[in-house]
Amino acid sequence: MPKSYCNYCSGLTNHEEVAVRATSGHDGHPEYPCEWGTYYRMLQCLGCETVVLRVDHWHSEYDMGDQSEFYPPRASRRPPLWMWQIPDGWRVLLAEIYTALQADSKRLAMMGARALLDVYMNDNVGDLRTFDLKLSALVEKGRITDSDKAVLVAALEAGHAATHRGHLPSDADIAHAMDIVENLLQRHLLQFSAEALAKATPPRPNKKQV
Ligand SMILES: [Zn+2]
Repeated sequence: MPKSYCNYCSGLTNHEEVAVRATSGHDGHPEYPCEWGTYYRMLQCLGCETVVLRVDHWHSEYDMGDQSEFYPPRASRRPPLWMWQIPDGWRVLLAEIYTALQADSKRLAMMGARALLDVYMNDNVGDLRTFDLKLSALVEKGRITDSDKAVLVAALEAGHAATHRGHLPSDADIAHAMDIVENLLQRHLLQFSAEALAKATPPRPNKKQV
């Protein structure tokens, strides 16, 4: 029973091998004969039952190491369930950021996070001249606190460095930036949830009239 990474269980879980196919080739060179091949394994997680394709390559003359490919790719982070409730323009960008994360395209993910922050700010405070002006306007509107602003400046700077200086962000940088962006978007949703809840809740009866 092979252990394999499961995106949905977010960790190594037991998998059942549903099917396996193998391809191979060889070079009949008289002095340097060699063989190579690929295993395609369809694996099903015994926890959540999702299925993934694992591809392993081997070569008789080279150590291919532990370089399994996964389809869909392994993801350290899952798109939030509330993603479908945010405005289309934000959701499309967020989905593209997750596509970049799954392809391990860290710079693209960071650029995307910065672009999404920019779109969010434009929608909330208008297209002001600089990021700093937009962030200050968000503070004035009470959408974020001063300490949130400091964290967002860090996220924007990371996106800027990825775009203009080719800076390769670490996994921790990306996780931090994504936490910030998603926190902001989710807070936007919670604000509407709170308003809807307040409207749907019957008012307290006036004690004098009871
Ligand atoms: Zn699973």
